[in-house]
Amino acid sequence: MKILVTGGAGYIGSATAAELLDAGHQVVVFDNLSQGHREAVPPAATFIQGDLADRAALAQLFAAHPDIDGIMHFASYTLVGESMQQPLLYLRDNLVNAANLLEAAVAAGVRRFILSSTANLFDDPAKMPIDEHERIVPGSPYGESKFFIERLLHWFERIYGLRYACMRYFNASGDTPERGEHHDPETHLIPLILQVALGQREQITIFGNDYPTPDGTCIRDYVHVVDLAQAHILALQALDRLGSRKYNLGNGSGFSVLEVIEAARKVTGHPIPHVVGPRRAGDPAILVASSETIRQELGWQPRYPDIESIIATAWEWHRSHPQGYTH
Ligand code: UDP
Repeated sequence: MKILVTGGAGYIGSATAAELLDAGHQVVVFDNLSQGHREAVPPAATFIQGDLADRAALAQLFAAHPDIDGIMHFASYTLVGESMQQPLLYLRDNLVNAANLLEAAVAAGVRRFILSSTANLFDDPAKMPIDEHERIVPGSPYGESKFFIERLLHWFERIYGLRYACMRYFNASGDTPERGEHHDPETHLIPLILQVALGQREQITIFGNDYPTPDGTCIRDYVHVVDLAQAHILALQALDRLGSRKYNLGNGSGFSVLEVIEAARKVTGHPIPHVVGPRRAGDPAILVASSETIRQELGWQPRYPDIESIIATAWEWHRSHPQGYTH
């Protein structure tokens, strides 16, 4: 199939573009490079620099590629914390950009759509791990923006026959030798820990150790970016057979911040000093998703189920790209 990957210069989008190519698909990447990196786009993909806010650019894209079979939509603002400071980047831009994309897609006859959604839809889970039956309570304008898009997809299915899958997950992590996680500024735990191991930062601050968890630090669901990419591809390939679907993606029972730091110490051989600071606003104690549905329906199986193997892949990339994509 020929797949349009929006945000294909970003962390998860570029990893998925590479996996799509490996699986024999053709890939067109559309990315405005506001957060992504041109070097992250696989060389075999067609790259178009453009903005989803620009409806004329989208019309041009589909005119130039009338044979697009499906879309994977990653391009988005993605930070929970930022969304609490600048809600309209999320509640307006993420939504309008997705609406523009969907409008152009159905006009061009595209009927397959995979959304990179979020487990931030579930802010008040009745049980852990969180499955697809959990009540939706977006935890931030970021989560709400993805929920809006899921609702757009619902109506686009009813009205235009679009088939879609929503992929909801928490902490994408890990890298491949070719491409890795590089945000500016970096706020994510694993790359920050690896900056300590690289000597770029003195210590890592743990945001609170008085949570009701076994070691007092927050437990999160770290899923390797290649496993996420595979899940998106499995969902795409099953769309015609199964129809629209929503999948939660998780990686077992989660890992605490201290467990992540300990694993990084083992992998890097660096002592990685840590200090304990105050809690970060909005952080729940435990977030873990159940991936039973996608395992059963699509046979998804993470290749990197343990935190040490995830960090080992991240360490390999960060060690060989100490400044990320900026050489
Ligand atoms: N965290 C931390 N120190 C940091 C960055 C993150 O203790 O410098 C914690 C954070 O409170 C959360 C976990 O690490 O419990 C993962 O945070 P991250 O920002 O990587 O991802 P999020 O869970 O917010 O999507």
